[in-house]
Amino acid sequence: MNILVVGGAGYVGSHAVRRLIGAGHCVWIYDNLSRGHRGAVPEGRLIEGEVADGPRLIEVMKEHRIDAVMHFAAYALVNESVVDPAMYYRNNVIATLELLDAMRQAKVERFVFSSTTATYGEPGLSPIPETTPQQPINPYGFTKLVIERALADYAAAYGFAYAALRYFNAAGADPAGDIGEDHDPESHLIPIVLQVALGQREQVTIFGEDYPTADGTCVRDYIHVCDLADAHLLALERLQPGRGLCLNLGTGRGTSVREIIESCRRVTGHPIPASIGPRRAGDPPELVADSRRAKEELGWVPQFTEVDEIVSTAWRWHRDHPRGYPN
Ligand code: UDP
Repeated sequence: MNILVVGGAGYVGSHAVRRLIGAGHCVWIYDNLSRGHRGAVPEGRLIEGEVADGPRLIEVMKEHRIDAVMHFAAYALVNESVVDPAMYYRNNVIATLELLDAMRQAKVERFVFSSTTATYGEPGLSPIPETTPQQPINPYGFTKLVIERALADYAAAYGFAYAALRYFNAAGADPAGDIGEDHDPESHLIPIVLQVALGQREQVTIFGEDYPTADGTCVRDYIHVCDLADAHLLALERLQPGRGLCLNLGTGRGTSVREIIESCRRVTGHPIPASIGPRRAGDPPELVADSRRAKEELGWVPQFTEVDEIVSTAWRWHRDHPRGYPN
């Protein structure tokens, strides 16, 4: 297929691009490089543009005879969405609706959407199946849920074929070592802990140790970014007109903040000083996926089952690219 990967220069998008190319698809990346990196995409495949630019998108889709769109271009930080919700609604909702309109006009009806565990809010059960009510507790989660709803309506009315993939915590990097996670500023746990091992930070602050979890720190389901990429490819192959596939993508295994720090100590051999700080607003105590549906529907089997393996791939990337991508 000819696939337009919107936001394909970002962290998860760039890994999906590699997987799609590996499977023989013809891939074009559409990205404004506001948070993505030129160095994360193969030469000659990048089209620079804005998601809100409908006419341009229509032109691109027609010119490259696009069969399917994967959409990774969104802002994805909870705190930032609370501070600047307008930016989140504009980019994650309005621009995405422009993209969907452009697809309709260009007669492209296959869509794979990056959704999130944040659409569940604080579900209070673990693991979390897809049938859990979606009650987001921050603007980021709401923006993603709005698009999930729009997609269900577009599927019913216009015959759209879509998948909404609800990621848990994306982590790690391609074992090849040349693409990985590069955010500025960095706010995610594993890269921050590895920056301590690199001497770029003095220590890591654990946001709260009084949660109702085994060791008092928050528990998350860390899923390798290459396993996410595999799920995108499998979902693309199973899209059906008028039907939506809403799938959780996680390992089903919870890992606490302390366990992540311990894993990083083992992998890097660095003592990694840590201190305890206050809770971070909006952090649910535990988010672990029930991903049986993705396994049944897609035949998806995550390959990276051990946290140390995931952290090792992240470490390789950060150690070899201490300043991230060159641009
Ligand atoms: N966290 C932490 N210290 C940090 C960054 C993150 O204790 O410097 C915790 C955070 O509170 C959460 C977990 O690590 O419980 C994962 O946070 P991250 O931002 O990586 O992903 P999120 O779960 O917010 O999507």
